[in-house]
Amino acid sequence: MNIHEYQAKQVLKAYGAPIAEGVPVFDAAGAEAAAKKLPGPLYVVKSQIHAGGRGKGKFKELSPDAKGGVRLAKSVEEVVANVKEMLGNTLVTKQTGPAGKQVNRLYIEGGADIARELYLSILVDRSVGRIAFVVSTEGGMDIETVAHDTPEKIITVAIDPETGVTAADVAKLNTALKLDGDAAKDGSTLFPLLYKAFTDKDMSLLEVNPLIVMKDGRLRVLDAKMSFDGNALFRHDDIKALRDETEEDAKEIEASKWDLAYVALDGNIGCMVNGAGLAMATMDIIKLYGAEPANFCDVGGGAGKEKVAAAFKIITADPKVEGILVNIFGGIMKCDVIAEGVIAAVKEVGLKVPLVVRLEGTNAELGKKIINESGLNVVSADDLDDAAKKIVAAVKG
Ligand code: ADP
Ligand code: MG
Repeated sequence: MNIHEYQAKQVLKAYGAPIAEGVPVFDAAGAEAAAKKLPGPLYVVKSQIHAGGRGKGKFKELSPDAKGGVRLAKSVEEVVANVKEMLGNTLVTKQTGPAGKQVNRLYIEGGADIARELYLSILVDRSVGRIAFVVSTEGGMDIETVAHDTPEKIITVAIDPETGVTAADVAKLNTALKLDGDAAKDGSTLFPLLYKAFTDKDMSLLEVNPLIVMKDGRLRVLDAKMSFDGNALFRHDDIKALRDETEEDAKEIEASKWDLAYVALDGNIGCMVNGAGLAMATMDIIKLYGAEPANFCDVGGGAGKEKVAAAFKIITADPKVEGILVNIFGGIMKCDVIAEGVIAAVKEVGLKVPLVVRLEGTNAELGKKIINESGLNVVSADDLDDAAKKIVAAVKG
């Protein structure tokens, strides 16, 4: 689960991170009062969407010369004018895709006097089985470009879970970021507290881009992106309360209610499978035959008929889906349960696209019989290869 920048900053502020004062704004009427709470004279109006690259982003509804999704303002009046221009419009950034994201919340923050923009993130580094800091002096811009063009400018410091962030780790990070004096002192408190926030709250990613050194030599967290491990959310009611469902794919929200592993993708073949490995293999073979999957949907091992029906309905509700491939290897999951779930869903919502079903394993014969006797227009397949060929042929017409 992701949260907005202003929420991430509230989380970090509670741990003592150096963050400017700011106020979220949800409607133009609140803009003036919000700006007046801040000392001024410099303000920044920041679009709150679950995507980065906002500064360089463009609003669809505004002229191409209009300013982007992060704007400086030099007075309360300028703040209000920017809020009116930005709120409700669609911001397109490198990370949103061409459709963009509607800006429903803004964050007004005190402006900072920036000397240097640095990059800092904390992530779970699976290659070493540890939480690691990834830092670079080249902050503020697209870190993927830095990683591609000048990988030597990105430095990783993995943290031993037994000790947490040690003085030696702090020294490495300060050196990597070329921090000295007050900035290095700030680093020695900031790095451990960020690590503590990360582990306390079960984050999967914390990205501060940029972390800045100000003209007075102090550090400040200027931007913050935070993702949490969904499997740990049950023990963080405070974090769960920060969820903004308007930022998420409606189908993924419905799927999460049913505890389905569902990820919306860009292709046109809907897939219903059991097991993540089979899901990956199914997506691969669809691609091999020249089409693209519209989703990754794993109904798991112990699903009942209702859950299978819910999964099928989520897949058919996607307007991008031009064909569906049900690929089941029955183990704990029984093929007859899948067949009954699919039929229940089709009876309720109909079936407007071709459906190829491949059932193998526990109760496969019974499952096939249920489908054959249902009168549904289903193409049955013998194996994975056959199934993929048939569904790709069906959507290509
Ligand atoms: P994004 O990464 O989505 O573009 P950022 O929050 O990183 O958004 O802002 C983009 C740029 O805007 C920063 O790199 C920085 O140069 C500038 N900026 C952001 N917040 C402030 C602030 N409070 N004061 C001054 N400049 C800011
Ligand atoms: Mg940023």
